Amino acid sequence: MFEIIKKDPLSNARTGKLRTKNETIDTPVFMPVGTLGTVKSISPLELYNEGFKIMLSNTYHLFLRPGMEVIEKFGSLRNFTNYKGAILTDSGGFQIFSLSKFAKISNGGAEFMSHIDGSIHIFTPEKVVKLQETFDSDIIMPLDVFSGPGVSKKIAEKDLDITLKWAERSINAKNKEKNNLIFLISQGNFFDDLREKSAIYLSELNADGYAIGGLAVGEDKETMRDMLGISVSKLPENKPRYLMGVGTPEDIITAVSLGVDMFDCVLPSRNARTGFAFTSKGNLNIKNSVHKFEKQPIDDECGCYACLNFSRAYLRHAFMSKEIFSQRLLTIHNLHFYQNMILNIRRAINDGSFTNYKNDFLEKRQQIASLPEDTSLQ
Ligand SMILES: [Zn+2]
Repeated sequence: MFEIIKKDPLSNARTGKLRTKNETIDTPVFMPVGTLGTVKSISPLELYNEGFKIMLSNTYHLFLRPGMEVIEKFGSLRNFTNYKGAILTDSGGFQIFSLSKFAKISNGGAEFMSHIDGSIHIFTPEKVVKLQETFDSDIIMPLDVFSGPGVSKKIAEKDLDITLKWAERSINAKNKEKNNLIFLISQGNFFDDLREKSAIYLSELNADGYAIGGLAVGEDKETMRDMLGISVSKLPENKPRYLMGVGTPEDIITAVSLGVDMFDCVLPSRNARTGFAFTSKGNLNIKNSVHKFEKQPIDDECGCYACLNFSRAYLRHAFMSKEIFSQRLLTIHNLHFYQNMILNIRRAINDGSFTNYKNDFLEKRQQIASLPEDTSLQ
């Protein structure tokens, strides 16, 4: 199911192949986020043709809208969305505890109020696995508890214990006759020993892969790196490792060097819609007046449709005039930038030059200063 192809001699980076029921996916891989079954402004075919063989959708959101009856009619989420790649569905644990109007742990699951119409629902670990089996997701994620930054160790430990019990219930609830994969989510907040405990406990449950959750939620970069390092070091080496909701190009390349294989993040598409472009020399704000007369493309090293055909001046004009096309062009560019980075990362690991590539990439990215203010990751 997962095969490691090449290990980098100077770091923990590796390339691999992950086989799901619908796709063979080269890793490291970046999964664009189509929360409701669509990556905003991009068609499923464009996404696939750009090389994205797997995308992420969200159980919490799809359960509320359009609802299970609709998707069930189509037989699978792939049929419904007409995306021919693989789909990983997140359980929605994060959204329940961060987005719904209230959420509490009760009745062996999570009780929450819909952020759309105020209706009350209960998700149990078993129900969440069954919902994703109804989607026929390539990769199923279990319900977990997200306790957020700044909580006491006592609360973090209590939440972790629930998450670990739920992980076991999720594995047991999965229909073994079906070939959907199930990953478990290693948590532990920002406490070294809880991160260790979580990874060790879950490793015993023999999942198809392991996610690292609860990071990139406002902590500093060093803390994120430390927590990620602990989780990865205690997870099985021969299973894919997926860092949830991360992140910036810098976060991704650093996490690859620590041994992470899979990523998802809203940044390339969300930032495009607020006028921000990722480039080989840093991040660019198309709204900035310095671009008003510029004939050059967003990134002269980029081969995407936006960069091959349009100037910064045109993009700025279209964006400032609130033309939908500008958001679409910036999304096309940002996704191409992420995909190109991932392809280069894979190539560099395979030919033994990953550390050099990483150092050059990070240095070059500092030429244009500063990230946009709004870089919230979920
Ligand atoms: Zn481009």
